[in-house]
Order: sequence, then C-alpha cells, then structure tokens
Amino acid sequence: MSAPIVPPATIGMLGGGQLGRYALMAARTMGYRTMVLEPDPLAPAGLIADTHLIAAYDDAAALRRLGDECEVVTTEFENPPAAALESLARRTWVAPSARAVAIAQDRIAEKRFLVDNGLPVGPYAVITNAEDNPDIGYPAILKSARLGYDGKGQRLVADGSEMRAAWRTLGSVPCVLERALSFEAELSVVVARSSRGGFAAYPVVENRHVDGILDLSIVPAHVSKRLSDRAVGLAMAITDGLGYVGVLAIEFFVVDGELLINEMAPRPHNSGHWTLDVAQTDQFEQQIRAICGLGLGDTSMTQPAAAMANLLGDLWDDHDPDWAAALDDPHSALHLYGKVTPRAGRKMGHLTSWGESPEQAEVRVLEARAALRRG
Ligand code: ADP
Ligand code: MG
Repeated sequence: MSAPIVPPATIGMLGGGQLGRYALMAARTMGYRTMVLEPDPLAPAGLIADTHLIAAYDDAAALRRLGDECEVVTTEFENPPAAALESLARRTWVAPSARAVAIAQDRIAEKRFLVDNGLPVGPYAVITNAEDNPDIGYPAILKSARLGYDGKGQRLVADGSEMRAAWRTLGSVPCVLERALSFEAELSVVVARSSRGGFAAYPVVENRHVDGILDLSIVPAHVSKRLSDRAVGLAMAITDGLGYVGVLAIEFFVVDGELLINEMAPRPHNSGHWTLDVAQTDQFEQQIRAICGLGLGDTSMTQPAAAMANLLGDLWDDHDPDWAAALDDPHSALHLYGKVTPRAGRKMGHLTSWGESPEQAEVRVLEARAALRRG
C-alpha cells in the first residue's frame, strides 16, 4: 500500500468482540467510518460501529460488501476463517495478512514458524494420531492446534497414557504437546508495525493467569533491562519474519532467567488494555495508525506504573457488582464491554489502576476489584 488511508475512509472489522470495539472507537474518534461483520447482533463492536453486517464470517455477500466498502479490513478475534480473509484480500487491503493470521491461529504452524526462524520455544511435539508417543518429558500440556483461547482446548497430562486419553477427549484433532514449564514469570510485549514501515513497542508487561485465563497484568514488568530488550528484539524478529502490519502481542515464559516464546496474537491484546488509561497512545489507536499507514504513536507511559485486572462473568452472582465502589479510588478506571449475558470465565470488562510503583498499582487494582463484591 502506498498512500495513507485517511478519514473519513471506512475501516472494516471481521469479528465483533471487545478488541474490535476499542479499535473502532479509536477509529471513530479519528473521524473514520466503521463497518463490522459479526453474526451476534449484540456483540460489543457491532453496537458501536456505523454499520453492523449481521452475518456469518464466511457469508459471501457480507464479505463482498465489507471488501468493497472498506479501504482496509482488520480482525480482532482468535479464529477468523483464513478463507474469509483471503476473499477480502482480493477486494481490499487486509492487515495483518491472511498468512500472518493463519500462522498465529494454528499452534503447529506457529511453532514451526518460530523454530524455522531460530526463535526460542520450550520442548514440544506435534500429536496427530493415537500412536504418537513423543519423549518431551512429563508433566506436559496437550493443546488443540486450533480454536483454543483462554485456556480452552488444553489438558494437563502426567504420562503417555493420560496424553492419549486427553487427545481423544479433545476430539482426536491435531495437537501440540508441550512440556509443562515451571516458569519464574509470564511476560508479554505489544508491538506495532505500520504499513509505512515504522516499529514501536510498549513497555514489557508481567501477566498472571488463573485457570488459563489472564487475571492480572502489571507494567512495567519486574525484569532486567537485558530481558525486556530481549523481549522486544524477539517481537521485532517475529514481525520481520511475518512481514507483519498491525499490532502484535507476544507471550513469553521466563525459565532459568531466559525467555521462551509461548504464543503470539495477531491483534491488540488483553495484556495491553492498560494502555487505554496509562499510555500516550493506546494499543487500539496504534492498530488504526498501523493498518492505515500513518505514523505510529508514542508508546510511553503517562504514569510510573499500572495494573489491569480482568472482570469475568463469575463476578455476577445474584446481583450486579458494585461499580460505584470500584470507582471511589481516583487512580482507577472501569471498562465494561457492553456484553449482555455474564457467564463464568467470560471477559466482561476490566479495571486499570495506576501509581508510583507496580506494587502500588497492583494493590489498588486488587482493592478496586474486591470492592465490587462488597455492595
Ligand atoms: P491461550 O491461547 O488459551 O492463551 P496459552 O497457550 O497461552 O493459551 O495458555 C494459557 C496459559 O496456560 C498460559 O498463559 C500459562 O499460564 C499456561 N500454560 C500454557 N502452556 C504452558 C506450558 N507449556 N507450561 C506451563 N504453563 C503453560
Ligand atoms: Mg495465551
């Protein structure tokens, strides 16, 4: 792409979740028009788009309209059908590319890409039939190659026979088997590459997961300069290898003081939500700048530290959480995604707090979340 895409051009989004919602809010703020293709009429991004095409992701007529009316189309969820992105790419500019998305959404292709590019991953093997019995060391985690997110499609297994039983319960689909790592920490870095060539990275984040779902992100991560530079360097190598355009998030494990790449997400990321309140340019505006071929925004923090806590559907038991109580603290911000039905494990929103140190921000966000339950 040569000339930048400028307002009031129409930006298209395949998928209607909260990541799409924030990206389209950023686009609207900048004066772009917005169009979403998403089957759920109540999806968060559909509710705020100028036009919501309510149809399946592979609906030919809807894809034709999205491709014809949008100057650029991007995506926001884990599993957009590769064929849909390819058909869009025949009509308009698609970023990130169908190829980059296809690699990131298939754990087998993702691992192969990382290994082929000499990038560090933990011990793993590909499992495609009931006789596979690789020697990678147990305990291990069996993960379906496709369609997993928030820890879904994963089983912790203690030995080969448990692995084979788990493979059948996952539907006998292609899987990767990974050694269960005892990591010192989980980190992530959110980076962006503009179609115009610029590269920018946000500060490295420390993440804590509960039951495979992100619970808490704390920034800046408590790691050495060497390790955070290494995280950005690895992310840059991945964007180069993919010829990537857009915002990309990389998740890492720290094992024996070194980084292993867990996975990548070809879009803004839950662990970058703090940027909405505590960065000069948030990751969603950055996504719009990147895919439109504009200059990238300043990624520096506006406070010394921030912490983000997810709000899952589990918080709603017999009554709604006490939103006012969470906002008694002037150093905290509330985000709800407009989802109508709270379900256990469903990401309904998040809280971000900030402060002088990561420890202070963490205490504040945990107190704000605890206050929701008091009402
Ligand atoms: P998802 O696509 O659901 O985010 P991940 O592969 O990132 O899948 O796994 C979710 C979480 O499960 C990770 O953030 C980590 O906490 C844990 N996990 C995943 N793989 C491993 C592993 N090989 N060793 C230890 N913990 C793991
Ligand atoms: Mg993950």
